[in-house]
Amino acid sequence: MKGLRKITPYVPGRQPNYPDIIKLNTNENPYPPSPKVEKALRNFDVEQLKSYSSIDNSLLKNALGSKHTLSSDHFLIGNGSDEVLAFCFLAFFNSADPILFPDITYGFYKVWADLFQIPYKELPLTANFEITTDDYTQLNGGLIIANPNAPTGLFKPLSEIEQILNVNQEVIVIVDEAYIDFGGQSACSLVDKYPNLIIIRTFSKSSSLAGLRVGYAIGNPEYIKIAESIKSSFNPYSVDSLAENLAVAATEDESYYLDITKQICETRDWFSETIATFGFTSLESKTNFLLVTHPKISSEPLYHYLEAHDVFVRYFPKIERLKNYLRISIGTQEEMETVSQLLRHYTKTALTTI
Ligand SMILES: *Cc1c(COP(=O)(O)O)cnc(C)c1O
Repeated sequence: MKGLRKITPYVPGRQPNYPDIIKLNTNENPYPPSPKVEKALRNFDVEQLKSYSSIDNSLLKNALGSKHTLSSDHFLIGNGSDEVLAFCFLAFFNSADPILFPDITYGFYKVWADLFQIPYKELPLTANFEITTDDYTQLNGGLIIANPNAPTGLFKPLSEIEQILNVNQEVIVIVDEAYIDFGGQSACSLVDKYPNLIIIRTFSKSSSLAGLRVGYAIGNPEYIKIAESIKSSFNPYSVDSLAENLAVAATEDESYYLDITKQICETRDWFSETIATFGFTSLESKTNFLLVTHPKISSEPLYHYLEAHDVFVRYFPKIERLKNYLRISIGTQEEMETVSQLLRHYTKTALTTI
């Protein structure tokens, strides 16, 4: 057949959907969305669905503007931050020079670069899985960095992000802040100082709305407008009315989300300390997941053991340096207690039979 496109797609964590599983493989939030979201859902007028959704998403942009104290023309809204990222790749990465990103990061960056035929260069993380700031000074056609990075969970201080922005003023620097609410410091304060900065946010992780599919970009209005023109050339109504309405309700309930985020961070730190007592080490996470390893336990059989006990975590066998790691999303305190007991039991059994 002529004209067919072959591409290696992004493969997300599995979505098993039978009851009583502990699902810790896609960094979803274990807590429900804000009660205000539920209320907005109940009050949503179904008649509204007769009409096309908003083309400028001004309700959500205004709500986000108040939250971030920026004018509404700093925002681009999309159907999940994955879509926003795709629009930004198309809008900003059109140079013949390669875009740069770490070799271990969100797997989708490479998929989009391939899909859109953008030249790219993957820069190796250090042995400690850190991003080397100086690597990002070489000739490039743009940069994308997840901060905190995934699946490492490590956060790069804002001063280093600023350094990267400073030496790359001729290109767009995308900072993907999918996990920023779990302990990092947002680069939002740098948006007015560095027009080359585009920040990507999502409602999927800290706002417990992965199924709603809403994400956004924050940046200089001039460049946001260019990304808007990509959206308008592709699917101008990509955010449906119900999604926009509920995302506004979520944006307006900061206190609820502060509470659940704090709980998740506490559970994360408790879990990391607890499993350390039976030999697991975790990278210092500023996210809602931990990248864990054990000096005497192989990840693959442990992954299958957890799965056999209906606990789903993420294993990356194709990434050589992560072969002996597991990425575990942080669930409720109760779920993590169950997981820690399973890990304790497995470790005890495995180590006495060696
Ligand atoms: C989860 C995630 C996304 C995608 O989020 P959606 O808004 O659900 O599409 C983007 N970037 C990173 C680093 C993520 O972990």
